[in-house]
Order: sequence, then C-alpha cells, then structure tokens
Amino acid sequence: MTTAVDQQTNAYFDDTYLTETTATVIAAGTDEDGAWAAVSPNIFHPKGGGQPSDEGTLDGVAVTPARDDAGLVVLTGAPSAPEVGTAVVCRIDAELRRRHAALHTAGHILGHLGEARGWQHSGHSHFPGQARLDFDPAGHEDELATPEPRESVRAEFQAQMDAVLARGGAVSASVDATGHRTVTIEGVNAEPCGGTHVRSLSELAGVRILEVKVKRGAIKVRYEAEHADRAPAGGSAS
Ligand SMILES: [Zn+2]
Repeated sequence: MTTAVDQQTNAYFDDTYLTETTATVIAAGTDEDGAWAAVSPNIFHPKGGGQPSDEGTLDGVAVTPARDDAGLVVLTGAPSAPEVGTAVVCRIDAELRRRHAALHTAGHILGHLGEARGWQHSGHSHFPGQARLDFDPAGHEDELATPEPRESVRAEFQAQMDAVLARGGAVSASVDATGHRTVTIEGVNAEPCGGTHVRSLSELAGVRILEVKVKRGAIKVRYEAEHADRAPAGGSAS
C-alpha cells in the first residue's frame, strides 16, 4: 500500500529558494490539535536537526509544519482540513528561509573547524539569535579555563571561517538508495543532514564568531550569519 509519506515530495530538500508553489493535498484530517493537511510537493521545513520550522501559509492561512511519527510533514493551524486531492497554494516566509539556510550552512563549517582542532561535535542550534555549535570539553578544560585563550580560539575560528568563505564553494545534497541525505560543502566536508542550505558559500554574509565559552559540560561556540542580500542565480525566490 502506498502511504502518504511515499507520496510526499519534500521540495525543500532540493531547492532552498522555492518559497511559493501550488501543491496537492495528499492527506488531511482533524484530531485533538485541530485540522491538519499534508501536501506534495511540500516546501515547508519542519523543525528538526537544530533548525527552526518555516513559517508560511496554505491558501493564505497561516500554518505550522511538523513531522509526524511516520515521517510525513503535516501542516496545522487552518480552521478546517482541505479535501484530499484538491490543489492549494503554499507560501513560506522567504526571508526567514534564507536566514535559516545561512545559519545552518555556517554551522556546518563551524562544526568542521572545531573537529579539525580535534574537538568532538556534541550538539548545535541554528536558531536565529542563539546559533551555536557545542563540542565535548573533555581534555580541553584547562586550555579554555580563562578568558584570554577562549578569545584566542574565537579569533582563530573567525580567521579560519573568513578563509573558507573567501575560497568559496558549492553546497549540494544527495540522497542514497536508503533515503539518507548527505549535504556536501565543496572544500569543507560532507555530512548527513535534513536541513536547508545556501547553494554557494558566496551567499553567506556577516558570518561572525561571537564567543567561545565552556558551560554546562560543553564548549559552546556562538555565531551569527546572514544571507547575502541579492537573489541567488537561478533562484525562484519571490
Ligand atoms: Zn545542514
């Protein structure tokens, strides 16, 4: 039997800049949380992997995406569920999507730079205003015990980040036969990821390493990143 998950194409995997589309309702209903619908193609990134949810509308009504237990991206918040098979217009907040993609992509680079120091990546958040990479502090407590070395490491990260961005590189994603998605940043690394990313490192702007601190059992590297102002070449952003 074909399930709704099989029918759903998650367009955000392939195109970060697709922020408006017509889609077909492939499943819908009402439960204790209200009406819900799943559509395909789906442009809404649900919260996950440290990246916040997209914000957007279904036929002009604000909805919130979330991934259900089966892996289906469902949209909630509409006053009533649309009928399965109908066409609907989906839009997401393009500026927010770009911001999330910039923060997420910069996070990959920062994770790589930390691992290149021999640090073990232990967690991350790509939320605007609180983006950070966490690393296991084991063995590094002494070297980061006072403000001066922490600031030195911060400055090194900034210089290394600036060098990576100056070199540039394409960002691409591929999905293997078992459905696992790998995101590759040319000249940096490849890692499993289900988030949204810029297409090229030249689309990152204002990447700043804000602070290195050791707190609650983790080295926390706080950072900031924005999407470059211009629309990307070939983009479908509106
Ligand atoms: Zn990612």
